[in-house]
Amino acid sequence: TPAPIETDALIVGAGPVGLFQAFQLGLLEISCHIVDALPAAGGQCVKLYGDKPIYDIPGTPRTSGHGLAESLLEQIAPFKPQFHFGEQVATLAREPDDRLRLTTSGGKTFLAKTVFIAAGVGAFVPKHIALDGIARFEGTRLFHHPESLDRFAGQTVVVNGGDDIALETALSLAAIAKQVTLLHRRDGFQADEAVVARMRTAVADGHMRFVVGQPAAFDGTRLQVTTPDAQTLELPVDALVACLGISPRLGPIADWGLELERKQVPVDTEKFETRERGVFAVGDINTYPGKRKLIVCGFHEATLAAWAATAIVFPGKAIPLQYTTTSTRLHTLLGVG
Ligand code: FAD
Repeated sequence: TPAPIETDALIVGAGPVGLFQAFQLGLLEISCHIVDALPAAGGQCVKLYGDKPIYDIPGTPRTSGHGLAESLLEQIAPFKPQFHFGEQVATLAREPDDRLRLTTSGGKTFLAKTVFIAAGVGAFVPKHIALDGIARFEGTRLFHHPESLDRFAGQTVVVNGGDDIALETALSLAAIAKQVTLLHRRDGFQADEAVVARMRTAVADGHMRFVVGQPAAFDGTRLQVTTPDAQTLELPVDALVACLGISPRLGPIADWGLELERKQVPVDTEKFETRERGVFAVGDINTYPGKRKLIVCGFHEATLAAWAATAIVFPGKAIPLQYTTTSTRLHTLLGVG
């Protein structure tokens, strides 16, 4: 097992609030690592409304979900936070020396002086096909929302799902795979009409097949399907690709001993600290009297949480407030002037 990564701060979640957390920590000379289950930064802004406009970011009359994520990444770049994408933080436990040990689904371990839970509504993870024992084929014969389709060239592939992503995936695969079957539980789709029309044409032209039914069993090479009229079909497959949507899961955070209230982590409003010393919670994941799930509120929370962390990272040291406008020290940190 690789050696644990030691850090002043670990941020769980690279949504807008987790990103701004890295900025506030950077100004206070606290270095950090950031872990996110998604393959890229931005959280809900990118995943749920990337191209939609946002009008209530202070000083920014109009941006988009993507635009905000890009601006935040540019703003925190001078502090060189280290990102770990595509991994979920799974466990959190206290070490005898008071540091916090965190492990990820990707097999990494962190030893952190402070932790900032900026997990929003939870980790965005693909919905799984509910069949016993199917997980053992993950990554070899079973794929959820694959990033790239290249590996399926020349293969016999079944795509399970009925939304835009499922249909687009099946259509893209039709061009490179040996045979593609789209499998959906009904002959109706939650997808753009134009995409559905392209799919129907591809089926009519014999470029792909469409089967109505539900997966019933999978042994890695054969997929058993139950049809609406209770027949069983058997489809030979090299790969089963599940595109059943991506939904947020609070997941492991519920097991970290933080006494959740309605799936939110209670914090105080001085430090935004949880009941565990050195474990802060900011953004949509936290709750306190008057809480509003807005980005601007998360930015304020992250600012005060960073200041509170200085007492742990630099014990006994009084940190003066400095302005980014005038402080030469901050200019050096920001690499400006
Ligand atoms: P999120 O954006 O949810 O990011 C959390 C991140 O943490 C995710 O990327 C997730 O994958 C990751 N994560 C969670 N658990 C783990 C784990 N265990 N391990 C690793 N990673 C994990 N707000 C506004 O202020 N103005 C608006 O105009 C506005 N419009 C909105 C429109 C829509 C359609 C929606 C859905 C929301 C809107 N919001 C708006 C709300 C705003 O998007 C949220 O308040 C904001 O995204 C919260 O940021 P966050 O960083 O706390 O969490």
